[in-house]
Formats: sequence, C-alpha cells, structure tokens
Amino acid sequence: MKYRCVRCGRSVYALNGFTCGCGGTLEVVHTFPEISLEVFEHRLSHMDGPFSSGVWRYKELIHPRIGTDSIVTRPEGNTNLYRRGGVSRYTGVERLQLKHEGENPTGSFKDRGMTVAVSEAVRSGASVVACASTGNTSASMAAYAAQAGLKAVVFIPEGEIAYGKLAQALAYGAQVIQVRGSFDDAMRIVKESSSELGFYVLNSLNPWRIEGQKSIVFEMLQQRSWEPPDWILVPAGNLGNTAAFGKALRELKQLGLIEKAPRIASIQAEGASPFYRLWRGKLNHLETVKPETVASAIKIGNPVSWVKALDAIRETDGVVERVSDTEIMNAKAIVDASGVGCEPASAASVAGAKKLREAGVIGLDEEVVCILTGNLLKDPENTVKYHLGEMASIDALYANRPVKVEPDVDSIERLLRQPNGQPVEAVVAGS
Ligand SMILES: *Cc1c(COP(=O)(O)O)cnc(C)c1O
Ligand SMILES: [Zn+2]
Repeated sequence: MKYRCVRCGRSVYALNGFTCGCGGTLEVVHTFPEISLEVFEHRLSHMDGPFSSGVWRYKELIHPRIGTDSIVTRPEGNTNLYRRGGVSRYTGVERLQLKHEGENPTGSFKDRGMTVAVSEAVRSGASVVACASTGNTSASMAAYAAQAGLKAVVFIPEGEIAYGKLAQALAYGAQVIQVRGSFDDAMRIVKESSSELGFYVLNSLNPWRIEGQKSIVFEMLQQRSWEPPDWILVPAGNLGNTAAFGKALRELKQLGLIEKAPRIASIQAEGASPFYRLWRGKLNHLETVKPETVASAIKIGNPVSWVKALDAIRETDGVVERVSDTEIMNAKAIVDASGVGCEPASAASVAGAKKLREAGVIGLDEEVVCILTGNLLKDPENTVKYHLGEMASIDALYANRPVKVEPDVDSIERLLRQPNGQPVEAVVAGS
C-alpha cells in the first residue's frame, strides 16, 4: 500500500501512527486498473454482495486490491437525490438537488468511509478500533465493529453529542469514554494513546475513510448520468468530506471519466469556522478556534483535513462560506417540512445555497447539489426545542408549535378552522 504525505510529499508505505513523521496527514496513492463507466452501470443490477453497496460498486476507484473476503459491508450508500419545490423556493436556486446521506445504514455518510476503513482494519489484522467523535463516527464505527467482531473504543466530548448518536454507540456495544473537554481534546487523546495502546484509529485521519467518502461524488454523478452539476455544497467540520470530494473529482479527471469538475462550496457554522477564516484571510496556516454551534456534528475548532480540503477548494475554483445557527435551523425546518428531513449540521449546505445565491456567487441558472449529511432522527432534542420556541439565541421562523386541546371533537374542529392553525399551515408550507 502506498500513501503520500500531503504536507511534505514523502511516500509512506505503512500506516503506523496514521501521520507522516513530519506530522502531516496521509492520503492513499492508487495505481488504477483500467476502468470504464459501464462496469458501474452493470453493477446496479446486483441485489447482494459487496457490489450492491454504493461504495464498493466503485471498488476500482476506492480500494482496487482488497480481497472481497475482507470487506465488511451493510451494504451502504445507494442514497436518494431529491428535488423539492419548497427548498428551491427558499434558497432561490431552482435547479437544486438534495443528496440524502442520512439514508445510510446508521444514518449518516460516515458509513461510506467506515466500511472501507473497517475492511482495511480487518485486512491488516487489527483487533481494537478507536475514534474521537462528535457522534456519527462513533455510531458508525460501533456498528461496523460489531459486525466484524472487533472491540470498539469511542472518545466523545462529555455532554456534547446528540442523543440519537450516543444511543447508537451504547446500543451497538462500543466502550464509550466521555472526555471532559471538546471534540478537539478527544481527538488529541486518541492520537496520543493509539500507538501506545495499539488502537487502529478510525477517525478521518485514517486515509481509507476519505477513500470511502469519495463514493458520495461517484454515486451522485452516476445518478445524474455522469453529468456534473455546477456546484456541490457540503457542510464542513473536520473537512474529511471536502477533502474526499476534491480527491474524487481529481481522480475522475485524471482517468478521463469526467471533463469538467463541479465547484465545491464548503459551508461552516459561524461559531466553528476556522477553515472559512483561513480561506477568506488567505492565511498559510489554520488557526484553531474554540467551537460553538448548535450543529454538534460540525462543532470542530481544529479540523484534521484542512490541507487536503484547501487543495480541493483551490483545484475546483470553490468557495468557503459560513452560516449562523439561526440560518442553519431555519434551513433545516424547510428541509424537514419538505418531507425529506435532516439533522442540524446537514442543513448548513442548504443555508449556504441560500446565502451564496443571494450574494450572486451561485448563478440563477446554475445547478446545485446540496449534501445532507445526517438523518433527522439523530438529534430529536434540538428539533423539538426549535419547534417549541425554546432555543434562546435562535429566531425560529418556521416553528410548528404543538397545541393543547380538550378531548372533544368540537374543540378540535374549532382549532382546525382557525386560519392560522399551525398544523394546517405546516402541511401547506411543505408541499
Ligand atoms: C461528520 C459530519 C459532518 C462533518 O463532516 P466533515 O467531513 O468532518 O467535514 C457534517 N454533518 C454530519 C451529520 C456529520 O456526521
Ligand atoms: Zn510529511
């Protein structure tokens, strides 16, 4: 296996410690076999086995040499692309599609990277896997480790992860360690303890996670008959997806499988936007921030993959934008009311589409694919609080307040007749 340090460019042949001696992150270097798009079309007919996965369908572009007996798959991917009038009207982007990664087996795109990295862990003989997580990585890792018979250790920032995700990690049987600190502290502890305690690290520091996440782009393009949109918008925290999308597009171009790459727009939460500052300020180095946002999945102040992500933005003539928690939660309410639904962090892409369209960065006729990274059910607490009007710093424009009535038909009839009856309005808004 060959890896390349994205900082010093050196070639590395083993994943000891998961970083280069210089501290830089590694990426997988492939020697691709000959490949044509017809192979991927043919595999759409598979109902079973690895090639029915929306990740392993593209095996030649992701992990050409792994034997199928090492592959641990649910299978994942095969997520839908939606058009919704309500979302188009809200953002002002008429030709907008939502790619719903919350439809993966454990409810987030993390499964796409996890199937590849866990398979690689199995191939390399690992017995204990570990990660730091804002929630979805731990949920995904716990499920795949359970399937593969590996011991799973997850480090999470105490009291900072959404309940749906904590429930999954516990239920799938991982050893859950709550760190008194932020995600960034948890990440540092994993790095420090991995070599000493022999953990196989499954954070996106692990370059195989990035390989699996490239399949979001492959699958989206295949669903569009290999016609790239003008833009891909993606919520950005640790920047693994931004990095993966850049690598996917670079490799597709190298192989001559697409001619023109879409522009990538990474969307951060205002209170956790070190990458935005780096890009906007044309800085040479990322400055860590203390993160603060309701979107816990992107509440990261020291993103691991910023060097790779910066290359992705530069190579695709992309942009970095940031949106407030109010913009995120209101965009989420619109996505939810369209019947599609997502977790808070996911809605950053849709909030970003609105902001970039209003600024004229996204043109009137341009085609946009917004990635929804996680499932609505991941974070029920923030969804309910929004609709009850209980989020102090958020202007909940689309709150759908429940109402209390006496248990008789007359009161209910009177309620539904009210012109401003909330339940009725919510149905109309989503149509
Ligand atoms: C992990 C995660 C993100 C952040 O993705 P990065 O690749 O770390 O930038 C965004 N949304 C959800 C739901 C996530 O689980
Ligand atoms: Zn290096």
